[in-house]
Amino acid sequence: MSGDESGAISDEVARLFRQRMEMGGDEVFLDRMTREEVLSILSHSVRSSVAGRNQAVLESALSDNVSEPVKGVAAMQRATREISEQGSGGPPLPVELPDDYERLREVALGCSKCPLSEGRTQVVFSDGSRTADLMVVGEAPGANEDATGVPFVGVAGQFLDLLLATIGRNRKDSVYIANVLKCRPPGNRDPDPGEIAECSPFLLKQIDFVKPSAILAVGSFSARLLTGLEGVALGKLRGQVHKYHGVPLVVTYHPAALLRNRRWIRSFWEDLQLLRSIIDVD
Ligand code: SF4
Repeated sequence: MSGDESGAISDEVARLFRQRMEMGGDEVFLDRMTREEVLSILSHSVRSSVAGRNQAVLESALSDNVSEPVKGVAAMQRATREISEQGSGGPPLPVELPDDYERLREVALGCSKCPLSEGRTQVVFSDGSRTADLMVVGEAPGANEDATGVPFVGVAGQFLDLLLATIGRNRKDSVYIANVLKCRPPGNRDPDPGEIAECSPFLLKQIDFVKPSAILAVGSFSARLLTGLEGVALGKLRGQVHKYHGVPLVVTYHPAALLRNRRWIRSFWEDLQLLRSIIDVD
């Protein structure tokens, strides 16, 4: 990752904290940790080559306005919107795929059901812990993911890691991550409906194996698939709790979109707090 890219991540996180302050908050809602603990978690979630700069920026963002110890989530939970349920609950669980996780993964790694198999370098099946209580569902692999076989790497992925760290989640043991599509669309174009129809059964089966307590769908393709609300704008789907076969589901913007449009970071942050209020209650 280039210095410019790492700087972009740091700037976005610092901006996120400043936005909280601009919204009138005098607390940063990072549970009961001290500022040093928060900074330690965040700095360890990025590669060592960029950790120093990230920590310096975060120190700067936090130093003037955050009381120590950083206080709890009560204020944000007071602001949490009333939970509503809508949507069809998503598509039915596929029956034609294996009932064994490793076998499912093997089938996906060898899949050629759609034309995306021809241009891929690797099938990108998942990352994170199968025992996680939170599942993050994205759209499709990009160039970095195609090269590494791991979802959400690169700048957007590291930004996602930082944001998840603020609610105490990490890929090592508390988040499972997968995409709607397992192979990269050429030129990072949008998935087409045929590809989603062919590939999404893998994802639905993964959800069934992991059995998360909550799902965070990032981006419109995963949001529409899991809510069953086709054609509804993401802006109208976010900010409330849906259900996917009984599992609480929060939808929000894709981290890559946040890097392109900073105005959405505030909305993402609110959705993350809504998600956390569900997980905390659970
Ligand atoms: S995108 Fe999905 S359905 Fe298409 S080849 Fe890859 S794994 Fe198979």
